[in-house]
Amino acid sequence: MSDADELKVLNPATEEVVATVAAASGQDVAAAVARAARAQTRWAALAPADRARLLRRFADVVDAHTEELAQLEVREAGHTVGNARWEAGNARDLLLYAAGGAERLLGKQIPVPGGWNVTFQEPLGVIGVIAPWNFPMPIAAWGSFPALAAGNTVVLKPAETTPLTALRLAELALEAGLPEHVLQVLPGHGHTAGRALVDHPDIAKIVFTGSSRTGREVMERCAKLVKPVTLELGGKSPNIVFADADLTTALDPFSFLDNAGQDCCARTRILVQEAVLEEAREFLADALAAVVVGDPADEKTQMGPLISRQQLERVRSYVRADAPALRGSAPGGPGFWFPPTVLTGERHDGEAAREEIFGPVAVLLPFTDEADAIRLANDTPYGLSGSLWTRDLGRALRVSQAVRAGNLSVNSHSSVRYWTPFGGYKQSGLGRELGPDALTAFTETKNVFISTEGPAQ
Ligand code: NAD
Repeated sequence: MSDADELKVLNPATEEVVATVAAASGQDVAAAVARAARAQTRWAALAPADRARLLRRFADVVDAHTEELAQLEVREAGHTVGNARWEAGNARDLLLYAAGGAERLLGKQIPVPGGWNVTFQEPLGVIGVIAPWNFPMPIAAWGSFPALAAGNTVVLKPAETTPLTALRLAELALEAGLPEHVLQVLPGHGHTAGRALVDHPDIAKIVFTGSSRTGREVMERCAKLVKPVTLELGGKSPNIVFADADLTTALDPFSFLDNAGQDCCARTRILVQEAVLEEAREFLADALAAVVVGDPADEKTQMGPLISRQQLERVRSYVRADAPALRGSAPGGPGFWFPPTVLTGERHDGEAAREEIFGPVAVLLPFTDEADAIRLANDTPYGLSGSLWTRDLGRALRVSQAVRAGNLSVNSHSSVRYWTPFGGYKQSGLGRELGPDALTAFTETKNVFISTEGPAQ
């Protein structure tokens, strides 16, 4: 993308311009942070019950606009309309969940001699949230809403390609009665607006979701100011299928095709026990051929386009035309289309099996026994997610303890629920979002000792 101060938002299914949005400069970011800092003092001073009430009202307004938000996500991100509705609902549900947290941000009373000792969870101040394009609404929500509930204000920079739903959420927040400047959305380029947020001394914490490369840079820049950071980075998650599993559910192709594979939790390494490898291959060939790829606004569509030409080229670079693979189909013509693909001739240490492709591409790899499955699953710099499928309960427990990843599912492909903590081991990230401790991640712990001895005579 150019450095022009406008962002052109394209519909990835048609390549038509959906909107043109002003890109924030470094000065715009500085002005927004100053407004957010002033607003934060008042926001934090509200009684928790009042903050909670406002956030619940915000949830009601989001709920009333679910369809509008979903249609916007279809147009700017190419998400299937069913997924986009879930995403708007996820933002609403998280608001309700976080609102409850505002009233339960509890401290501790710790027994010590000579007095009382209590802890308080105090808001950090202004939080900078940098969101990616793959799930623009949910990821903006996960970084922002618990922070707001804990008494912080937020400056959010959406990705260049997908600013529209975040901008709309900020408007809906005002409509719901949230005070001005509590939630500000500043679309802009990563290397200008993004860096300005990271480098600003009055941004108390950065929540970054995106590529590992940018995440490393964000962390380095935060280190200069000893600024805390939450990083949600890439993944190359395993789907471990033992021979005793029900292959039809274990090999659900949407475990890696959902959102056209642009999902950091996508199970893109399909590890199958040798005894059922051939059966798995046949099942996947049929399953890929049956996937309906096309217009994401059509209710029957199961997979839409990739986000951009750049992403399409990136995905293509991992799939040689003559590579042994199982392939589905994709539309021709305008739009950033790539067919569902399972590469069948890759080595586990080859590029396609090790790097995050972020498209509808998985690799099929055989394993011999439980130890081999665990070794292969862990042979990656990432550790975000994973599934394992077996009817043997003891094995399920052993393998889920042995796989080094933040979010595992047994006999299921689910990974993100707003009730439970989400985040990665190893180079998949740092810190956790969501779950019962989501608000705590946006607080400092203050400890106060109150002497009961009385002043010295
Ligand atoms: P990116 O990391 O460059 O961008 C993510 C966000 O960071 C965007 O808002 C961007 O504007 C901002 N940004 C970029 N450079 C910045 C900087 N120097 N300082 C501060 N903010 C900055 O990701 P991308 O280029 O959009 O995607 C590239 C790859 O990243 C994808 O192919 C995929 O592998 C991975 N990715 C992962 C996730 C995830 O959820 N883990 C999400 C998106 C992309």
